[in-house]
Amino acid sequence: MPPSRPSAAKSILRALLRRCPNCGSPGIFAGYTTLKERCPQCGLRLHRGESDYFIGAYLLNLVAVELLFALVLAVVFIATYPNTPWALLQWGGLVLMIAGAVLCYPFSKALWLAADIIFRPVSEEELAWHRRDGTLDEREELPHL
Ligand SMILES: [Zn+2]
Repeated sequence: MPPSRPSAAKSILRALLRRCPNCGSPGIFAGYTTLKERCPQCGLRLHRGESDYFIGAYLLNLVAVELLFALVLAVVFIATYPNTPWALLQWGGLVLMIAGAVLCYPFSKALWLAADIIFRPVSEEELAWHRRDGTLDEREELPHL
């Protein structure tokens, strides 16, 4: 039986709840930002077998925090014009950017995985590969590439 493919909205919602975007299982994080190697329910390798998999999550996190800062900057600027508190924006923005990067990072990892699953759905062949132990031999290619 082929694995049921979650809808894009369901994958994203699961990621926002820090659950496996593929099956919805909780417990994919070993710590606040550290993902386990595999989903405890479906067995999906959360890096999908790629060593540089979460570079996209770093980028997603950076963009999210930059947009958050831009939103706060615009709201404070419009609400307080012409007496804009530039020093508060400068130092508050710094604190917001650092805190936002830390707070958003685990969500960006899960969202990156969800986006990847939306564009490259997990096939039965790939899931069987994820559930196997061991690594790739030199002749084998990742089944989802
Ligand atoms: Zn799963």
